[in-house]
Amino acid sequence: MLNDTYRHKGMRRKLVELLRSKGISDEAVLEAIDRVPRHLFLDNAFINFAYKNQAFPIGSDQTISHPFTVAFQTQLLELKPKDKVLEIGTGSGYQCSVLMEMGVKVLSIERHRSLHMKSKKMLNSLGYFPKVFFGDGFKGQPSYAPFDKIIITAAAPFIPEDLKKQLKVGGFMIIPLGESEKQEMQRLTKVSETEFKIETYGEFSFVPMLQDKSFKS
Ligand code: SAH
Repeated sequence: MLNDTYRHKGMRRKLVELLRSKGISDEAVLEAIDRVPRHLFLDNAFINFAYKNQAFPIGSDQTISHPFTVAFQTQLLELKPKDKVLEIGTGSGYQCSVLMEMGVKVLSIERHRSLHMKSKKMLNSLGYFPKVFFGDGFKGQPSYAPFDKIIITAAAPFIPEDLKKQLKVGGFMIIPLGESEKQEMQRLTKVSETEFKIETYGEFSFVPMLQDKSFKS
């Protein structure tokens, strides 16, 4: 079942070259993408397309992000070996695996119970053991804070206050911000307890980060 063949490895190599040609220059990120078997995070019907630079459905009306988006957000995190990283939107678990391959400590939150269960199983079967939570990303994980880095993988309507609090001074939050079809990728640096520096990195398209209280099963 968990089959990573030479053919898949070859397709991944090509994907890595494509990402390099599109401007991903962090070798550690490219190596992580090269190691994670993305095809295993997709439904069977899409396996042959897994290494195209495309987003795909992963069930529950959600999508696995484009490889370029995953690589781009990961690169913006500028990860260091002992970083503690909080991901919002576990989804398929693919971005989470790429973070695990970067050798950092990862915590990830998902609001769909079925995706939470499914991605946890897949992550563990591939030998990745991040801390995964079924819960609301807007609230973060206060008992594990502060975080060196926070990565949001759904379109955020605003910058969540709780996540700002849970970020370390000097840390980054990568957030696709906006409520329309396209969002602006921003990197917030927490300069002091109350000040944030904002850098912008162009338009991306994510499924929405949802705020309703009722979690989905
Ligand atoms: N990182 C994922 C991308 C998944 S798409 C991957 O690599 O596959 C975004 C995910 O964010 C969806 O699974 C969606 O259910 C989840 N999400 C949306 N709003 C959320 C919230 N408030 N808290 C936690 N997860 C949320």
